[in-house]
Amino acid sequence: MIGSGGWLRLPEEALLDAGIVDRATVTSREGVVELRPLGITRASVLMLPDIEGSAGAVVEVRNVTRSYSGDAALDAVTATFKPGQLTVVTGPSGSGKSTLLALVAGLDVPDEGEIVVDGVSLSRLSRDARARFRRDMIAFIGQSPGLTGFLSARENVELGLAIRGVEGIEAHERAIDALVAVGLGEHADRPADNLSAGQRERVAVARALAARTPVILADEPTSRVDVAQALTLGGLFSDIAHEHGTTFVCATHDAVLIGFADEDVQLRTRSPVESS
Ligand code: ADP
Ligand code: MG
Repeated sequence: MIGSGGWLRLPEEALLDAGIVDRATVTSREGVVELRPLGITRASVLMLPDIEGSAGAVVEVRNVTRSYSGDAALDAVTATFKPGQLTVVTGPSGSGKSTLLALVAGLDVPDEGEIVVDGVSLSRLSRDARARFRRDMIAFIGQSPGLTGFLSARENVELGLAIRGVEGIEAHERAIDALVAVGLGEHADRPADNLSAGQRERVAVARALAARTPVILADEPTSRVDVAQALTLGGLFSDIAHEHGTTFVCATHDAVLIGFADEDVQLRTRSPVESS
């Protein structure tokens, strides 16, 4: 399916979702995609703490400032995202929602203040340690689905898992479970290119769910789906938070999604955050 040797270009979102920014080897055996990041051996994967299906982690944003060319995208923002809750981060366009999510995901570091996930201050970790921490603790649903078009929905989810070191039959089962959860069970074997925009978004959601991380972050996850699908996703996110104890955070301005939230962290341009 992928062929042997040569290069496979992976969507940046799939890699970012799993905290990998490097090369990897990919194999396809009996219809199951396996991928191993270069430099990460199976032994080092096994040494990591077992957090599969674990409850959420407290995420603390402490007095965080992030500026671009002297302009503060976030100015002394403090907020707490709690396990077992769906929190929405709201605010006008340009108020720093995406910036905040990228900081919490460990994809960026604050100029001042700190992000503490499960008691670990992200900015005190080395770049490699932060990537490993991200891979195990955090799934990120980016602003575009970032799928590989010629791979099926299931293979896209398996690829995301393979990047995290989950392969074989377990990856297969997790992928199917996650696709069923987002209502795509019957479309699991369709190439991503043949799915609608809303269905592709849901594959990206399935890829994050299948990782079973304590923290799931989503940047405007309903911006490309219709109201019916937004209702389905809002209900699903809320259920995942409540039933598994996951810390679920969505940047959004969608009233449908906001309606499902337990907490609303409101950002305003260049002023401190308010948390209700
Ligand atoms: P939101 O997601 O709420 O729309 P963003 O976090 O994308 O807001 O942006 C917050 C502010 O930071 C905006 O003024 C935006 O122009 C600026 N910004 C965001 N990312 C960058 C970047 N990489 N370089 C320069 N400015 C940026
Ligand atoms: Mg944004």
